[in-house]
Amino acid sequence: MIIVFLGAPGSGKGTQALMLADYLKTPFISTGDMLRDQVKQSSVLGLKAKAIMEQGELVPDNDVINMIKERVAQKDCTKGFVIDGFPRNSNQAKALDKAMMELGREVNKVVYLEIPQEVAIERNCGRRVCKNCRANYHIKYSPPKTDNKCDLCDQELYQRDDDKQETVVKRYQIYLEQTKNLVDYYQDRLISINGGLPIESIGQNIREKLKLAVGR
Ligand code: AMP
Repeated sequence: MIIVFLGAPGSGKGTQALMLADYLKTPFISTGDMLRDQVKQSSVLGLKAKAIMEQGELVPDNDVINMIKERVAQKDCTKGFVIDGFPRNSNQAKALDKAMMELGREVNKVVYLEIPQEVAIERNCGRRVCKNCRANYHIKYSPPKTDNKCDLCDQELYQRDDDKQETVVKRYQIYLEQTKNLVDYYQDRLISINGGLPIESIGQNIREKLKLAVGR
């Protein structure tokens, strides 16, 4: 199954997409993570993307589309995958459908996580990420057991540059302008989920709506 996650920054789609991929034992593909890797490696794309990402703007469509096309054509994706962070606008959504069609496949379901704006912004600003394994925490709602240390691998946590208040507001604005209307584009394969519940309940609701919980 090919599943796309849609939602505002801070809706919890990264967390839920990762949990679902883990459950389905299929690859988890995050364009944000892939781009952050490029920045870390100081590749040509990374150098170009760094400033754009820090400002909360979108990296040019062509770069992201090429990156994702290359990734989904890899062997581990043949049985399906879960995508977080892509598509971000209708141009990217059309490119994804086209790429899938060329591979004789299609995006089967789109999980849309709905939350109010103020919740999204608070979640983003309080997010902390493990430098090593990328596990996510929230300073208020899901703090690590030891201050600023990852529960899973004991490495240091950090705040993403684009999780600073000003950039979070900018990212939310771009979401409203360019991404939210993908709900209409994906109308026929959309599954709407209340993203304001506890993490485990959201995960369960997603699996139920995808009819994955039965018999497992
Ligand atoms: P994310 O981790 O999904 O919040 O993405 C972090 C940043 O990476 C975004 O604010 C964009 O600058 C960039 N980015 C991630 N995915 C895309 C995409 N599909 N198109 C353009 N830029 C992206």
